[in-house]
Amino acid sequence: MRFDVTQVLDAIERHLTTEAALAQAVVDLGQVAWFDALDGGRAVNLLRVGQTLDALSRHLGEDGIMLYAVAGRDLLTDADLTSKERMVLGRWSGDGIIEVVPVVADRVAEVADITGWPVVTLDGFPGLEGRYPWLHGQPDRVLRLVPGDGGARIVGGQPAPPGAPAGLLTRVWRCQRRDCPSFGERRVATQAVPRLRSGVPVCPRHDEPLVNVGPKPPYVTMALVVDGAVRERFVVRMGRTVTVGRSPDDPSGIMIGGYLTGDAAAMISRNHVRLDLRDDALFVSDVSTNGTIVRSRTSPYSASDPVHLNQGPAYPLKPWDTIELHEGVVLSRADRSLTRTAGGPGSVMGDAPTIYMPPSV
Ligand SMILES: [Zn+2]
Repeated sequence: MRFDVTQVLDAIERHLTTEAALAQAVVDLGQVAWFDALDGGRAVNLLRVGQTLDALSRHLGEDGIMLYAVAGRDLLTDADLTSKERMVLGRWSGDGIIEVVPVVADRVAEVADITGWPVVTLDGFPGLEGRYPWLHGQPDRVLRLVPGDGGARIVGGQPAPPGAPAGLLTRVWRCQRRDCPSFGERRVATQAVPRLRSGVPVCPRHDEPLVNVGPKPPYVTMALVVDGAVRERFVVRMGRTVTVGRSPDDPSGIMIGGYLTGDAAAMISRNHVRLDLRDDALFVSDVSTNGTIVRSRTSPYSASDPVHLNQGPAYPLKPWDTIELHEGVVLSRADRSLTRTAGGPGSVMGDAPTIYMPPSV
């Protein structure tokens, strides 16, 4: 199997986000990229982010991991990056896929402090325990990255899923620079994590005060589970229909064709279901050829009642209901996911031999 760096970087990109509704953990991208003890190779290597994602995926038991990555300007200008890595980092920065800050300093711990997520770290941020007591008091939120398993391994506990967003994360914030990738006008429905400077929310990228433009519209984070493993997470917001299918017509729909094989690939329609969040209930509409089954449950452990949807009216989901597009292909609320397994075909490094890190790519 040919080692394809572009493919691995694309796979890494699909697991990076600065969206508070999607991310599950926060990391200093430079700390990982410079962690040459992972492979003994180049001083800096972006592929180590892929090894980190695979390690996190194994540790948390989920393939669809989304990581909030913070990068300092010193990483983006590192002379040892390949031209491809420099180009990819520049694009990630411009598209708001990663958060670029002048200096990382305590930013990773701060993001975790505001959101309740765990941190992925090499050193546990010594010296910051005074400001962020949970670094000591909640060791389950400190996931240490160490070499191992032919790549990277995570040492630490199993962090509890964070609760409902609070405080800063319940508002929509705007940077005074309209083209800001983190808080600019392009980010209509999405939201990064503000930085706090003496209690004032500021843009982490531009260090200027953010403008509070109102309460954040309600949303639900969903998980796509294929053959028992979470493959992808996505957000459904009030007032914005999300189509899920093999290859939806709507370019902002959730395309799941790449995860499907055999019967599932043949039976699931290009546009299969539509999801709508209205007045605090999530509605599902079947728009497929072969139909959809809602497995209706009153609790995670109760037996499910099948409700067959065949292009009928929109069906209001209860919190523990799951949507079956085909046997083994299920949508559920991400915070109510009934299955958490990983280690299958979802590996970010894919067929790339994880211990083989070419010295110059
Ligand atoms: Zn900004």
